[in-house]
Amino acid sequence: MNTISNFIGGEFIKPVSGNYLDNYEPATGEVYSLVPDSDERDVELAVIAAQKAFPIWSGMPVEKRSEIMLRIADFLTLHLERFASAETIDQGKPLWLSKAMDIPRAAQNFHFFGTEILHFASEAHATNQHLNYTLRTPIGVVGCISPWNLPLYLFSWKIAPALATGNCVIAKPSELTPMTAYLLAELCQKAGMPPGVLNIIHGLGAKVGAAITKHTAIHAISFTGGTKTGADIARTAAPMFKKLSLELGGKNPNIIFDDCNLGEAALTSARAAFTNQGEICLCGSRIFVQQSIYDAFKEQFLSHVSRFTVGDPLEPGTVQGALVSKAHWEKVLSYIELAKQEGGTVLCGGNVVNPEGRCENGWFIEPTVIEGLSYDCRTNQEEIFGPVATLVPFETEEEVVAMANSTNYGLAAVVWTENLSKAHRVAANLQSGIVWINCWMVRDLRTPFGGVKHSGVGREGGFEALKFFTEPKNVCVKL
Ligand code: NAD
Repeated sequence: MNTISNFIGGEFIKPVSGNYLDNYEPATGEVYSLVPDSDERDVELAVIAAQKAFPIWSGMPVEKRSEIMLRIADFLTLHLERFASAETIDQGKPLWLSKAMDIPRAAQNFHFFGTEILHFASEAHATNQHLNYTLRTPIGVVGCISPWNLPLYLFSWKIAPALATGNCVIAKPSELTPMTAYLLAELCQKAGMPPGVLNIIHGLGAKVGAAITKHTAIHAISFTGGTKTGADIARTAAPMFKKLSLELGGKNPNIIFDDCNLGEAALTSARAAFTNQGEICLCGSRIFVQQSIYDAFKEQFLSHVSRFTVGDPLEPGTVQGALVSKAHWEKVLSYIELAKQEGGTVLCGGNVVNPEGRCENGWFIEPTVIEGLSYDCRTNQEEIFGPVATLVPFETEEEVVAMANSTNYGLAAVVWTENLSKAHRVAANLQSGIVWINCWMVRDLRTPFGGVKHSGVGREGGFEALKFFTEPKNVCVKL
């Protein structure tokens, strides 16, 4: 049994409590490793190590910091197979997806922020009498808390800009998917990162996450996860005047106008609904289809979805793997039941899958498509975060924009139309941090990433992330 350790002050150490949590392989439903059940005492040790490391790391020439980060990116690429298989076993997603998306993107995160920091310049504002210039200094010790759906991808998306800007980090991956963060620590060591710069504490949100949130020496929290957890974190951190970046839940609309390229819209919408078992915050789970092409779209969409084989994530032919945990699997199934109670018709899927062999007790659900629900029922308003999508017909642009904007969320939206003016108009009217037109999940890491309403506060990505992890100080000089 593989026992995971915390990484504090450059060393792998046991949790102070000596206790461990079971870590399950979702595809088999069996315990395959142990995760430290850490608490505030481990966070305290990490903060001490981070405070000690801060003068060294923040004082290091930026080119040197960049070199270390680029080395980590290279190591991740070199060890792609090992990391991808660890991610798949820990999370349940298909191995090909871990290889094609999760691990390459984690490497890219280190590469991107490791180079972006070399181009991060501050502003100057001059008049005839005065010169203002703005210094940007690292915050100090910061907390990064990440979820289970894209484990290393989102973990590195936070820690890379925090580290690039010279901060020391106390990071907490999800207790459901701790493995790749644990393996990453080894690469950071090899890459020459000084001890204490990155500290990784494993364990429960209510213990480790809460301890990070309320620690007085941690001055900024970057969090990705559920909206309710984000509210809990804000409740503690806001009165302490910590900087907060909150990337929260979504219930993303995918709007199909009758003048779209139907073939592309149907194929990409199927991917957008079910990639990673529908466990991506950007998945388009509410599909609004203009009435005149409703049947044609439905036919093509369902024919793609029917080809999404569910099964062992290690098998190359598997399109959809296992859901991350039994609790989450039960939650998704309960939403399928709710949809039926709300009058929905299941067009495909809706059932548990028990693949033969090693995965027979894993947490699998068929990709499920439902129609006949009103846009404002619970199924269409609450985040399910699994392989469940609904089809809702609409008549006019005004109507669909109102339906799309009707949830509390506002993370991402997709619009399908060949009409340029309509595309821009709808994009402007959607309450959403991100809008994709005729595409989905195209990610340019320079762009601002985040949501509005209950989908979050602040933006990640590009210079936004470097700004979040630095404090601006304006200096005014009389000339
Ligand atoms: P979660 O909120 O349960 O947990 C996220 C992280 O927070 C975990 O590491 C967890 O241990 C920790 N945590 C839990 N309680 C805490 C507390 N009281 N204080 C501090 N930390 C705590 O979310 P999840 O179930 O891991 O992830 C799924 C959610 O994440 C979905 O809602 C999804 O939409 C969202 N998500 C959002 C984005 C985005 O970019 N907006 C990206 C991915 C996932």
